Amino acid sequence: MHALLVEDDDRMARALGTALAQRGHTVRRVGRALDALRHVHEAEFVLLDLGLPDLDGLELLRRLRTVCDAPLIVVTARCEERDIVQGLRAGADDYVVKPFRMAELMARIDTVRRRTDSHPGRAGAHPAHPADVTGAGGRPVRTGDVEVDLAGRTVTVAGAEVRLTRREFDVLAFLAARPGEVHSREVILDRIWGDAFLTASRSLDVHVAGIRAKTGRSHLVRTVRGFGYQLGSPTAPADGDGPR
Ligand code: CA
Repeated sequence: MHALLVEDDDRMARALGTALAQRGHTVRRVGRALDALRHVHEAEFVLLDLGLPDLDGLELLRRLRTVCDAPLIVVTARCEERDIVQGLRAGADDYVVKPFRMAELMARIDTVRRRTDSHPGRAGAHPAHPADVTGAGGRPVRTGDVEVDLAGRTVTVAGAEVRLTRREFDVLAFLAARPGEVHSREVILDRIWGDAFLTASRSLDVHVAGIRAKTGRSHLVRTVRGFGYQLGSPTAPADGDGPR
């Protein structure tokens, strides 16, 4: 897997890089927060040192989490309980205090990856298809009179099949896979387009508009203004009262 190693200490970075490479991972090492943000979209997991020269590590962690939900382990000298709790709250999957035993860190990486892989929302860093994300083969997701079959990649509205483009289906399936959650634009773009930094583009909006128009259910996708989207509850065939 491809690791992003965020570590400003050269010796530590070399040791970690070697250990990761020995276990078959490819590694991009960066020493600054800015570069971490630039390269995080390619990472399948992240090791993050909190003491960086250009930005507080917890702040970086929060920013990384807005654009990426790959497994992330904090590796830091900060060992106060308060730091650990803050790190985990900010979205770290695990927290390893320096000095640590390399074998233990590698084991923790495996554990976190297993855990996040089995989490429905987190199947690897860049699953091309939400069907992979959901652990396909489950029952279709129903909301109102709309049924989304993630495994079969079909959508029916009031029993009639609606033809979406591949991307439109990917977006709808991603939302349907976790109907109770609101998904940020960045996460959706990262998962479906493989690039969270497309966030300024109109691609996502255009696809959402397509889903609404083709299904005739403007409330099937709910806009969470300034943040992202969620699977909505289309109430009736006559819910043509505007897309938002
Ligand atoms: Ca450091």
